[in-house]
Amino acid sequence: MASIRTRITASYALAFAGTMFAFSAVVWAERRAVAFQDLRDSAANVSDLGIRMLRLTGVGSEALTIDTTSATGRELTPRFKTSLDVLPGYVLIADSAHVLYTSRAVTALSDRDQQSLSKAAFQIQNGADTVVTLEDERRELLLVAKAEPRTSAASPVRWVAAGVSTAPLDVAGAQVLFLSFVVAPLILLISAGTAWTLAGRMLQPIEQMVNDVEAISDGRSLHRRIPVEDQGDEISRLGSTLNAMIARLESSFAALRRFTADASHELKTPLTVLRADIERAMTTPQGSTDQLVALEEGLQETARMADLVDSLLTLARADEGRFDLYREPVEMEPLVREVAETANILGEAAGQQVSMPVLQPVTVLGDRVRLRQLFLNIVTNAIKYTGKGGKVELTLEALDGTAVFTVKDTGIGIAGVDLPFIFDRFWRVDRARSRGGERSGVGLGLAISQWIAQAHGGSINVSSRMGRGSSFAVTIPALPTPNSALTQA
Ligand code: ADP
Repeated sequence: MASIRTRITASYALAFAGTMFAFSAVVWAERRAVAFQDLRDSAANVSDLGIRMLRLTGVGSEALTIDTTSATGRELTPRFKTSLDVLPGYVLIADSAHVLYTSRAVTALSDRDQQSLSKAAFQIQNGADTVVTLEDERRELLLVAKAEPRTSAASPVRWVAAGVSTAPLDVAGAQVLFLSFVVAPLILLISAGTAWTLAGRMLQPIEQMVNDVEAISDGRSLHRRIPVEDQGDEISRLGSTLNAMIARLESSFAALRRFTADASHELKTPLTVLRADIERAMTTPQGSTDQLVALEEGLQETARMADLVDSLLTLARADEGRFDLYREPVEMEPLVREVAETANILGEAAGQQVSMPVLQPVTVLGDRVRLRQLFLNIVTNAIKYTGKGGKVELTLEALDGTAVFTVKDTGIGIAGVDLPFIFDRFWRVDRARSRGGERSGVGLGLAISQWIAQAHGGSINVSSRMGRGSSFAVTIPALPTPNSALTQA
């Protein structure tokens, strides 16, 4: 969907183009009508003039007017013809059946055109007009006929017709077309540009607000507010409404986090006491086997709950920003070796082959305990989700100023549709999995791992294929090694 700015500009341009088109059409029709009337008037004037001249030169009697010895057998006498030759343009004078006179312009036309002209002239009534097409000349004439008022019964002339070229009509049309196709698009372009600029300026505060809200809604900036200039307009109202909503969100999120943190904290002590009690009960010699099994189960569940409460507390504190990282330069090589040892023990128990083909020296600035927790989470997952006889491979590389710890397994893999959710809290691919099974988990491990990676300015990338295995790569910014510092200096 196009942006509001584009839509405003397009609507404006469309409305403007429509108006321009309608306006041009009206102007075109109006100008053509006016030009037509002008032409008609001038043709009618020539006809009137012809009639008046005939009268002045004495058209009274046929004997005086008609030359029967002429080529056509019936024409005006040369005296009349000479005086009528001053009339401009195309003129025809006729009695009821014959053309008695044609002006020089008519005589100059081809026979075919002369015939079309006289035929049309005979058809029109007094004062009426018609448009005649001159095929050979390739143009049109507007012909207007005026009847001789027949003051004398002996006068042979019935009507005088005058024609004018319709070319001025085309000129009037061409001017409007020029306006429509050259000037109008230019104006359209300028006004669309103006609309684009104005829309941009009007929408700029909204654009700014969207950016602000985006920055605030990243999950850690709910304490921030959108700057609002109280101008009483819609935009400042929108800003205030959003601010009020963010404030409500902030307080309810804070309440939720506080509740989780407090509940986890409160649960810690009773769980520790319970665990100690169970352990003590298990060491009492009088217990039966059944009692021992029950106590064993109780101890497992207590341990599981203690882990869960621990993870919840970690995440709740991280959310509140109350969790300090004790940053110090950490050499990754020994840390990863340590993790690999644990992985070997776990792998052996699970019948898997754990290897570490690449181990490069690299140092990061970070919290050793948290990094260890992060790596162990990923490694235990790899072992947990890889069957007997599978392989787990750990690598540590120094790449482009970062330390990259990768854990590759040949396990069950994760489906593409599930991948975007694996870092969500309490999210597990197989939710129906039995709680006590070998792959039991609460779905908080990767959420904590991601938080640790991000708190170190790093990230976790996962690639996986169902049934083929997964690869988790943790990238943490590295400290410059003394060698590279020397090279840079
Ligand atoms: P859990 O405690 O269930 O292991 P995590 O947050 O560590 O929780 O992992 C979330 C889910 O991601 C797991 O339930 C599992 O479905 C999937 N997952 C994590 N690591 C792997 C892996 N290496 N192979 C296959 N699936 C994995």
